[in-house]
Amino acid sequence: MLTDPDVDKQPGMGLVLRAARFAAWKHRHQRRKGKGRLPYINHPLDLAHVLWFEGQVTDPIVLAAALLHDTVEDTQTSVQELQGEFGEQIAGIVMETTDEKSLDWRVRKKLQITRARGASIEARLVKLADKICNLRSLIANPPQNWTVERQRHYFDWAKEVVDQMRGTNPDLELRFDQVYRKRP
Ligand code: ZN
Repeated sequence: MLTDPDVDKQPGMGLVLRAARFAAWKHRHQRRKGKGRLPYINHPLDLAHVLWFEGQVTDPIVLAAALLHDTVEDTQTSVQELQGEFGEQIAGIVMETTDEKSLDWRVRKKLQITRARGASIEARLVKLADKICNLRSLIANPPQNWTVERQRHYFDWAKEVVDQMRGTNPDLELRFDQVYRKRP
């Protein structure tokens, strides 16, 4: 049996690694939309990186949830599966950041705005990092079929979501504002 060497020394490291491995497996056939067509897993890894290095977020629960945040929405992963692998709290955070795919996209976008304020602190951190990373990707690698109009619309919507979460993490909010200034 594998023993978990971090139990005494680095609580949480094993959890974060397990989440990275699980997400990499689940997203293994997917690519990002932008023209570089990066492997999808780069996106959740970017979120965890932003949280740690730019938001000073060191809570392994948040980092693991960031790595897993798109598994239910974009891969064949159920909440039950996440609960079994990572526990109720992480599964709950992932669900808070998951759009209801059965709803019309306009309704989903609207719901993200109205639900952001009431989200848990952990989910708000993941959402902030997600919006930062998505705007950065849009600037670096805009999807070929996106008009400038559509990009602007996305920027403005992302800002509306972030504006609902002001006061969550000033460092991340500042990073968001910096990238928002590059709106096409
Ligand atoms: Zn995402």
